[in-house]
Amino acid sequence: MTTMSKDTNSLLVQGYEVVIGFETHTQLTTQSKIFSRASTAFGAEPNTQASAVDFALPGALPVMNKGAVQRAIEFGLAVNAHIAESSVFARKNYFYPDLPKGYQISQFEIPVVQGGVVEFYLGDEKKSVRLVRAHLEEDAGKSLHEDFIGMSGIDLNRAGTPLLEIVTEPDMRSSAEAVAYAKELHKIVTWIGICDGNMQEGSFRCDANVSVRKPGAPLGTRREIKNLNSFKFMQQAIDFEVRWQIEQIEDGHAIQQATVLFDPDTGETRAMRTKEDAADYRYFPDPDLPPLVIGRDWVERTRAEMSELPRVMAARFVKDYGLPEYDAGQLTQSKATAAYFEAVASASKSPKLASNWVMGELSRRLNAEEKSIEASAVSTAQLAQLIGRIADGTISNNAARQVFEALWTGAGQDVDALIEAKGLKQMSDTGELERIIDAVLAANAKNVEEVKAGNAKAFNALVGQAMKATKGKANPAQVNELLKKKLA
Ligand code: ADP
Ligand code: MG
Repeated sequence: MTTMSKDTNSLLVQGYEVVIGFETHTQLTTQSKIFSRASTAFGAEPNTQASAVDFALPGALPVMNKGAVQRAIEFGLAVNAHIAESSVFARKNYFYPDLPKGYQISQFEIPVVQGGVVEFYLGDEKKSVRLVRAHLEEDAGKSLHEDFIGMSGIDLNRAGTPLLEIVTEPDMRSSAEAVAYAKELHKIVTWIGICDGNMQEGSFRCDANVSVRKPGAPLGTRREIKNLNSFKFMQQAIDFEVRWQIEQIEDGHAIQQATVLFDPDTGETRAMRTKEDAADYRYFPDPDLPPLVIGRDWVERTRAEMSELPRVMAARFVKDYGLPEYDAGQLTQSKATAAYFEAVASASKSPKLASNWVMGELSRRLNAEEKSIEASAVSTAQLAQLIGRIADGTISNNAARQVFEALWTGAGQDVDALIEAKGLKQMSDTGELERIIDAVLAANAKNVEEVKAGNAKAFNALVGQAMKATKGKANPAQVNELLKKKLA
């Protein structure tokens, strides 16, 4: 039972509460398949990467890939789940041309990863979505429809690709929260390196289970939107589905449990099949595979060898560098971004400035040119040097932006040489600045009168005049201070 807080109340859509649970198929980064030695590489000629096991030739027996188990353990640890000491592979029986065995090897009653939680921010609100489980299974092949010869073929290259299916409790209450969850999960699996996260190639496929209910009512009947392979479509599909379900209910129709597909061209979801129940699959333990036994020592060894997780790293950024939580969250969006930031922060000894520049100017340039941070035209050493010159008062932020631009476009390499060549040094000679300010005050007697009468705008005008007289090289804070002193 969900208790309705004011917050969730404000999320109601036409008086209905939205309920969402996710099932995500993540393709694991092993070189070979989950039960055979065939390669998992994407994009090969059809059926060149399938072995006797993947073709389901009679008598061929599956052999468990240790690397797939290793990755399941890593995921379990990353989300604080329980790693089962013994889990069981089961046959999920169904007929489909791309599944020559007639069953998919999956885990049913006893999955390898049990429980766990994914935490993330939605705006400034902290959310946590509970996981039910994550289980290992094999992917199916693909039907290829060759319209030009009017025939379909089967490609079994994908058959047997290892998947970890990650299932949540129905904890999400809006499409925005669902997308934020999916992004966080994507970040976790790519960060720990168990999945390449390529959504276009189908390495990270989300199914969204969606239902609506009146606040306080039992869970409504869900429809499952299959294979959402972009975050944008995910939100569109859920929003459409929610509106559609509410309309049905308001018109007096009951929702039928079903599997639906999202069509990006129309922006609509449409029913593919009425949903099967677990019983339809006649699950039973696969007699070809013994239970998967994972010793505690394997789990502990993995825990010790795993690199720092994003949320742990973000907490450390807050603690060690004094950054706001928002900055820490942004900087830990990827390992590469975090590493870049840390290099700049420690070389410049100005973590907040480093954060501002990485999230600001650098991100802006990277986005504009669709570059990843690894391909940044400005090195961490250059940015650290630049930040050092802001911190020690040599140049203003505005001047620093000009230097950054020159570094980025390759017009120069050395920060100090660029500052010199462009004449960007701030005036550090107080005597000279005072003389300039005195001249400005003398030339603007009317403004001075107005300031003395309490006009703040007139003061700003004087600051502007003084900055202009120094060709922008004065430190604005220093100009402010000197003017205040002289007008007091
Ligand atoms: P199945 O075995 O049919 O796949 P599960 O009970 O495993 O069904 O649930 C699958 C997914 O659907 C889970 O992510 C779960 O949280 C979600 N779910 C279950 N009931 C609902 C509901 N009423 N509304 C939305 N999501 C739901
Ligand atoms: Mg399911």
